[in-house]
Amino acid sequence: MVHKLLIPVVICVGVFGGGFVAGMPASTNEYFPIRPPRPPLDNFVAGDPLTEEEFHSDISSKSGEMELDHSSLWDNQHPELHEGDVMLTSAKNAILGTVGLWPNATIPYVISSNYTSAQRQVIASVMNTYRNKTCLRFVPRTTQANYIRIKKSGQGCWSYVGRIGGAQDVSLDDGCIASWAPGVVIHELMHTAGFWHEHMRPDRDKYVSINLNNVRQQYRGNFNKMSTTQVTTLGLGYDYGSVMHYPAGAFAIDRSIPVIKALIGSPTLGQRKGFSTLDLQKLRKLYNCKTCYFFYDGHDAFMGIDIWHSIHLFCLA
Ligand SMILES: [Zn+2]
Repeated sequence: MVHKLLIPVVICVGVFGGGFVAGMPASTNEYFPIRPPRPPLDNFVAGDPLTEEEFHSDISSKSGEMELDHSSLWDNQHPELHEGDVMLTSAKNAILGTVGLWPNATIPYVISSNYTSAQRQVIASVMNTYRNKTCLRFVPRTTQANYIRIKKSGQGCWSYVGRIGGAQDVSLDDGCIASWAPGVVIHELMHTAGFWHEHMRPDRDKYVSINLNNVRQQYRGNFNKMSTTQVTTLGLGYDYGSVMHYPAGAFAIDRSIPVIKALIGSPTLGQRKGFSTLDLQKLRKLYNCKTCYFFYDGHDAFMGIDIWHSIHLFCLA
């Protein structure tokens, strides 16, 4: 049972391609005293819904197609996050309750016409992974009032956290959509589903240390720790391997010195290959996904044909 919710708020926004654009709503965030205007919402041209064929794209065979520098993935993905936009939704009192969840675990989407077929395949393949491994469903929007608009904003990769009501954008620029790192798209859509970054958990100090001295002041808010009144861990463990975890060198001034250090073992932080086992468990728990099995309690043969006596349906959380 989910008592509290991980809240709808803007989280990932950033610099992409060298130019700074932020475009977040105004707030009194101390980290971002000068706040750029919110991006216009009226420049969206919808493309065709993703097809079942695209859902089943084998993107693993397309490694290297995107011509992206692997080492620069982080810079493209999360050059900076506007933690201060927590202000946006705390004002809506959406911290607790089910406001930020997507009813029936269904997220209606429209996708911009501005994607190549290879990029559509990556996005569709990620949605298909959600479908196969969780009960979340991305469905083409028809008349739903609440839905996401997947688009290239020119601002990198970002999403709101959870459902905020009405049309809400998910920004997936060219640098966010690599067939060899579908975890970036997975990451943004986990924000959309309602998840914050793993290192912001209330219990994170038991698992990681954060060296803020190696982070420019304006980015330090990205390492804030959230309180138990703001978010829930769902009773599931801290996950160094989460697709929602920052890498060790996130926002480092001196890249030879880690910003995030694991306190237990020496795990790799910040993988973007795909869901971790715990990521899936958390999604399934937040959305109360169940795995159901049919079975029958016996059968007889009549004239050589099996007759099912009774069919049972069992569902496990
Ligand atoms: Zn993020």
